[in-house]
Amino acid sequence: MAYLKKRYREIIERIDKELKLPKGWSYFVKKEAQKDNFIIKSKGICTCGNCKTEFKSEKKINEREKCPKCKKEYLIKRSNYQWHIFEPRTLILLDKLDENWIIRLFQMESRYVNGKVYHSKAAEYGRVILNEKLEFVNNRLYSGMWGYGKVNTYAEVKAWREYKSSYQSLSTYGKVFHNNLKELFKDTEYKYSQLWTLAKKEDEIDLSYYLNNNFPSTEMLIKMGLYKLALCPKTFNKKGSFEKIFGINKCYYNFMKKNNIDIDELNILKLYKRKDIKKIKYLKQFRLEHLAKISKYMTLDKFIEFAISKRKFDMDMYSDYIGFLEDLELDLKDKSNLFPEDVKAEHDKYQEQVAVRSNEITKRNIEKRYKQLEENIFSNNKYFIIPAKSIEALEDESKQQRNCVRTYAKRYSKGECDIYFMRERNNPNKSLVTVEVKNNKVVQSRIKCNKDINKSQQKFLDKWEDKILNVA
Ligand SMILES: [Zn+2]
Repeated sequence: MAYLKKRYREIIERIDKELKLPKGWSYFVKKEAQKDNFIIKSKGICTCGNCKTEFKSEKKINEREKCPKCKKEYLIKRSNYQWHIFEPRTLILLDKLDENWIIRLFQMESRYVNGKVYHSKAAEYGRVILNEKLEFVNNRLYSGMWGYGKVNTYAEVKAWREYKSSYQSLSTYGKVFHNNLKELFKDTEYKYSQLWTLAKKEDEIDLSYYLNNNFPSTEMLIKMGLYKLALCPKTFNKKGSFEKIFGINKCYYNFMKKNNIDIDELNILKLYKRKDIKKIKYLKQFRLEHLAKISKYMTLDKFIEFAISKRKFDMDMYSDYIGFLEDLELDLKDKSNLFPEDVKAEHDKYQEQVAVRSNEITKRNIEKRYKQLEENIFSNNKYFIIPAKSIEALEDESKQQRNCVRTYAKRYSKGECDIYFMRERNNPNKSLVTVEVKNNKVVQSRIKCNKDINKSQQKFLDKWEDKILNVA
């Protein structure tokens, strides 16, 4: 066992002795355990695994259904379903020792075996002494595959150790016991925080995050009934009007509250501006930046119609495709452009056109760059140095050098770097040194296969840099 400092051991022992599990804790654990179950469907009849009520349902296997009696919602499984391990649940208890906030971490897991559900007890595995930034775990926590912490809920507590990890602290994300919070927060800086309401309403919150960041917006969001938005209080920690805080007109407030919308849904609502939660939830499967891009050209209703009409809709490809239309300056008001029959075929066709076009632009720009840099041409009796004249010249150089100058073509054409070829006067077509210049400084000078250059070559380059580049 790892050695635990005397003072730390005393803290652990005092928690064991002085902090009893509060009234309501075992009821809370039982309620959480009830969330892990199934509805079993057999010959059209559903049976609730929790209260054993039988009822009829049109829902299929692996869809969710609500039991009409106990109102719990579960996945539907076949009666011959044999074995399932539910995701473990982290349960969190806040307490106070002297003036220290103590966060106690518990885990519970449930198994389904041949029609019966077995719940483990809520096993404590971690303690966070928040004010001192101290973390302790016991022997129940072990390192699972990929280093994730796992909890053996069946093990007895034998020893505590300090939890020290260089890359992460103990997660305090889970279902928080809320009954004692209001009392605990009395006369503290959290007395207005409303965290007890949030803990009650939301399945999982990160308790130490709220305690460490006591944003005024937390209280505001919870009081407004926007619980899911209260999960990211920092985003809304601003002053001003509703519109300034949420980025949307106040007429949407009731809709936001009624559907307890989350931050992704809010961002979609800002684009969509329609009070249709079903469609907002449908749009959630797509990346916001894609939705923002396409909504410049079509209503999101039209887009949904289009996406649903495709057997397999690929948003990445569609968004690329719209980007190609933009690049090629095609008519984005034309419905046959916006909603092609075969997205993949059109995507591939325009992708090629965009590539050709962008090559042409690169080509023209490289010629322009040459003219800009021409005045830096320099020579002595042995060497000369010239800027890259064309895309072909760059390709030839990279072929001869077996290096990757070709990839510089785009950057060179955009003026992000300058590319020169240094060669011998009596062998002007043979590549010798490729030189990259940035802000009038040689940043790279390479000979074949990316080796370094020799002394006389270096001398020539130094002189060039000094005499020509630094004057320019
Ligand atoms: Zn039930």
